[in-house]
Amino acid sequence: MAIQVPTETELAPTVSRRDFLAFCSLMAGALALPKSSEELIRNALTNPKRTPVIWLELQDCAGCSEAFLRSSSPTAAEVVLDILSVDYHETIMAASGRRAEEAKEATIAAGGYLLVVEGSISLDEDAGYCCVGGKSSVQLLKEAAKNAIAVVAVGNCATFGGLPKARPNPTNAVGVMDLIKDKPVLNIPGCPMNPVNLTATVVHFLTFGALPAMDALNRPMFAFGHLIHDNCERRGHFSAGEFVKDWGDEGHRLGWCLYKMGCKGPMSYHNCPTVRFNEGTNWPIGAGHPCIGCSEPGFWDLETYEPLELVEFTPPSQYPGIVPPEELITPVGAAIAGGTLGLIVGAAGAFAYDMVNKKSGMELKHDDELTGPEEHPDSK
Ligand code: SF4
Repeated sequence: MAIQVPTETELAPTVSRRDFLAFCSLMAGALALPKSSEELIRNALTNPKRTPVIWLELQDCAGCSEAFLRSSSPTAAEVVLDILSVDYHETIMAASGRRAEEAKEATIAAGGYLLVVEGSISLDEDAGYCCVGGKSSVQLLKEAAKNAIAVVAVGNCATFGGLPKARPNPTNAVGVMDLIKDKPVLNIPGCPMNPVNLTATVVHFLTFGALPAMDALNRPMFAFGHLIHDNCERRGHFSAGEFVKDWGDEGHRLGWCLYKMGCKGPMSYHNCPTVRFNEGTNWPIGAGHPCIGCSEPGFWDLETYEPLELVEFTPPSQYPGIVPPEELITPVGAAIAGGTLGLIVGAAGAFAYDMVNKKSGMELKHDDELTGPEEHPDSK
């Protein structure tokens, strides 16, 4: 079957053919789909029928809207805005007041739309928190969800309550899935959410007519299927017992592990290490700040700079260590490491090093150079 690649005139003028093809490849990769699926994605995205979207903002800071609209490479927001019809979004729509409400009511009446929700919902309806057009956030959500095909909650506020739900939760805030029980609800947490994950979810929905596979917290597995800790570029330093102990110390300058500065990577499921932010430029840990766990419920009530207690811990199976391979493996292994299997053996060496340390009670390699707690977190 011939591959149908849209011409420039078939696409919106803002998206070149080259960008469109790059976008389809990126989405196939983000969704962990085989290369052959790119054709399906291309055909789905060039369907002239645009899917309507209602985007509600409730108790939020508009950070997820900003993250989505500021994403630019390869034209993620442009492509999605060309294949969707965003009929209602208070922050970006030109209409206001009664005309805006009428656009939303017409879309709800027609049905068959995607509902995107940003921000938490206040259960204290009589207190007057978060009212739009004289309606409470509970009313707004239930009304908009009524005829939706599915609901996508974006950001930690809409998924798990986020900052508004932090102790003492003055507005009695909850997330979307606490209220909507009769529709599929997919959660894309983060503070803000990563726009690549929303885009990939929409592309999956348009290509296959269904939401992607989800975990127990309704998060898409393609984006939240692995711990940050297991894909972190500083993981080799964790395994070697090399930790930042103070801001700006030698370990910080050398890019060592941020566990002892409160990093929540060992408890947080997210694809930040691989997708990153700002066109893949960097991410918090890459910039020297510990992960704050923004993809998990209740992260605002965690002590940001207090280390986690690691109860269960699984060594990585694939991440290379920082110790020279010849110190970790046999001569035969070292010979193999010099060949084309070097990377694989390096990863096995890191695994072996972890296991040896676990059994020997963890001898910190650079302990005498460090100033913090003596105990390796893995030994708890
Ligand atoms: S504790 Fe944090 S910085 Fe250290 S390896 Fe894990 S995720 Fe990376």
